[in-house]
Amino acid sequence: MKNIAVLGCTGSIGRQTLDIVRSNPDKYRITGLSCGSRVTELVGLSREFSCKNVGVYDKTKYTELKALVPNANAFCGDDALTAVIDGADTVVIAVVGMIGLKAVLYALEKGKAIALANKESLVAGGSIVTERLKHGGKLYPVDSEHSAVWQCLQGEKDFSRIILTASGGPFYFAPQSELYSVTPEQAVKHPNWSMGQKISVDSATMMNKGLEIIEARWLFNTTDIDYVIHPESVVHSMVEFRDGSIKAQAGFPDMRLPIQYALSYPEHSYRNFTPLSLPMELRFLPPDENKFPAPKLAKQAIVAGGNSAAVLNAANEAAVALFLQRKIAFTDIVRIVEDALSAEPHCEVKTADEVFATHNRVYDQIYLKYRGR
Ligand code: NAD
Ligand code: MG
Repeated sequence: MKNIAVLGCTGSIGRQTLDIVRSNPDKYRITGLSCGSRVTELVGLSREFSCKNVGVYDKTKYTELKALVPNANAFCGDDALTAVIDGADTVVIAVVGMIGLKAVLYALEKGKAIALANKESLVAGGSIVTERLKHGGKLYPVDSEHSAVWQCLQGEKDFSRIILTASGGPFYFAPQSELYSVTPEQAVKHPNWSMGQKISVDSATMMNKGLEIIEARWLFNTTDIDYVIHPESVVHSMVEFRDGSIKAQAGFPDMRLPIQYALSYPEHSYRNFTPLSLPMELRFLPPDENKFPAPKLAKQAIVAGGNSAAVLNAANEAAVALFLQRKIAFTDIVRIVEDALSAEPHCEVKTADEVFATHNRVYDQIYLKYRGR
């Protein structure tokens, strides 16, 4: 029996993780649950799973939470990302945004295995997380592309290149002139996946692929990373080996597959899955970095190193929040990220505190500049 804590349990990945636990009551037990602010939903899940540790990040919701779960330990603020994992073997980190880094570092310090959905933590703090991992700890990817690469690498010693696939988002085939007027409602409608708002907007701008290139850089210790547009989202990514062989991992697009693999690794355990209906036509198309420059910015941030990826991530988080509040246009998002990367002086970031300070400064600067619009 594996004890599991799910941080971000009310979100898209969090709820799908709980689906897996529901289908495998003999394998998994929930010991910790936390979310940002949705207490009613959190309490319902806590009761369903008889959860011992329950946390809400929003401190104003603490009294309400405590009253509703008298038999559990209730937490708020950063404790919803840290103390709530006490007693868990594996921590599923499914919160959105760089704040996830707090959970990653704490879970590693406590020797927990991490199933990591939260990509912003690795984008902003990849060098620090990698350094901590040298002293032990396990970090398993949940992001479908990275799970695919990880699955392709089983039993392998070396590889020459990672090829991430990208659906292209809802606007890959749209004329560039239409992007300016894209609304939040249009941007969050992804053709193949149902996801949280932030990652849906990231997919629409292709910043998601940029973040994933940086994520792959840290997870697989390589800068040989390309990407290709694959609108069907059936091949989840590929790895090329030194003899020219390419392995691809494929399957019906369903995040429960990579989530479950991160929990059941090294086994591909039973799952009641939707089979691919074959034959089917699959396309692999070239990216258009004129129309969607975000992945190019991410690759430049990898080369620049230091604070660049943290700046890129913070600027993107602020810009996406502003776009969702209708303060800026869709095409402003990546422009704001690009401007932040050129405006911010380059420096090294050696500690988690430096990463958080960089993030907060860049985020606030951008957010305060545009929010009054
Ligand atoms: P979501 O918006 O649906 O859910 C986010 C969850 O995090 C919610 O439960 C929210 O309450 C919680 N949360 C936010 N801030 C918190 C905090 N400070 N403390 C505790 N909980 C907090 O997002 P999502 O789509 O599930 O994505 C989560 C993460 O997984 C993101 O980093 C995303 O990039 C990544 N991811 C998601 C998918 C997907 O299919 N949804 C796929 C790959 C990777
Ligand atoms: Mg992905």
